Amino acid sequence: MVQSFYDSVLEQIDVTAERISLDKGVHKMLRQPERELTVGVPIEKDDGDIEVFTGYRVQHSGARGPCKGGIRYHPATDLDEVRALAALMSFKCAVANVPFGGAKGGITCDPTGLSNKELQRLTKRYIAMILPIIGPRRDIPAPDVFTDAQTMGWIMDAVSMYEGKTVLDIVTGKPLDLGGSLGRREATGRGVMLNTVEVLDRLGKDPKGTTVAIQGFGNVGSVAAQLLHEKGSKIVAISDVSAGYYDPDGLDIPSLMNFVETEDRPLLCNHPECQGFNTIDNDSLLALDVDVLIPAALENQVHSGNADSISADIIVEGANGPISKNGDSILNEKGTTVVPDILANSGGVIVSYFEWVQGIQSFFWGVDEVNANLKNIMLSSFNDVWELSKEKDVSMRDSAFMISLDKMAKAIELRGIFP
Ligand code: NAD
Repeated sequence: MVQSFYDSVLEQIDVTAERISLDKGVHKMLRQPERELTVGVPIEKDDGDIEVFTGYRVQHSGARGPCKGGIRYHPATDLDEVRALAALMSFKCAVANVPFGGAKGGITCDPTGLSNKELQRLTKRYIAMILPIIGPRRDIPAPDVFTDAQTMGWIMDAVSMYEGKTVLDIVTGKPLDLGGSLGRREATGRGVMLNTVEVLDRLGKDPKGTTVAIQGFGNVGSVAAQLLHEKGSKIVAISDVSAGYYDPDGLDIPSLMNFVETEDRPLLCNHPECQGFNTIDNDSLLALDVDVLIPAALENQVHSGNADSISADIIVEGANGPISKNGDSILNEKGTTVVPDILANSGGVIVSYFEWVQGIQSFFWGVDEVNANLKNIMLSSFNDVWELSKEKDVSMRDSAFMISLDKMAKAIELRGIFP
């Protein structure tokens, strides 16, 4: 049976707590989000009808700093998913050592069926309804699945209108013209590339010629594909919600990138040359005999029902929670090296931190500075996780969680329990 996403995260917390002999009280605190808000979000549709959507904002832990986490628009988004994603954000920020806690938001909706004006109204109304619990020193949203820089611009505007002044540091992942950071759009994919190159290096392999399959060709998947292609890797398969393409000799990534960068809401099935491509379904893509598999779409894609069929030696988790806890145990037994989400996709929150700092200072960095600082933090976190996994003979996921729970426990202990 496929575990719920939050159950998977709770199981990982429990396993890690036992491994590091975590204080029982702290363990209880980390299993329970600090704050959850569910809101009914009415909007007037373009045809004049009113529709009401359900939105969420969950703050898992503010122990290490203001809460931080993206906002997802997806038909399958629910409280269980948002809780899981919020908890992963706390652990991710701790592994990267950025001074944030974890949060996440989402609206249950199909954004592909809404016009841009409807999406703008939905975003601004949702933000108005979660405004009591967010803020530049409280909780700072960012993009996630089906939200982007434009969505963040609308959020910045809504909060600025309430405050009567421009509030740059309320949100990250903003457009460059509205105080966004150079390098933020590419940061998560760049981090995935850095982790892939690093894990290949530790295993004595060269990125050049390495075969890679990528599920999800959005912000994370497409940038990871482009940067790995530039390193000489052969991207043999990609997919999105509409189609999957496969070429054992390597796909033409520059042409596919050009397509997704120039289309408004691009779907791979609409690529002008799609009739000439070999197609592949999701299950076959995940099972391809490649060196590296990068799931960069949604959670629970690899689970107890299909983990046995995975052939890749290395999995780098671009998405959050793409492997269920049950699926992870099967992969561990098979000896698959998994670079876990809370390390592999932390490039986004690391550069979000840079954007937040730049917004507070109203002083903006060049892209080389952003990318160099990202690389420093990323490689240092990778090294910590890799070394501990070797020292304790545990998976990289276990070592990443051991590091993060330990840091969170220290913060909680130093602050003490209020009152
Ligand atoms: P996105 O909306 O830009 O892209 C998502 C991609 O997944 C799209 O190509 C979509 O078509 C595809 N997809 C959706 N359902 C699919 C399915 N069933 N099969 C195959 N493909 C499917 O979102 P994103 O920002 O790239 O996020 C992808 C993942 O990375 C999510 O798990 C997200 O939480 C995680 N993540 C994103 C960031 C970030 O900075 N954007 C940071 C960390 C983690």
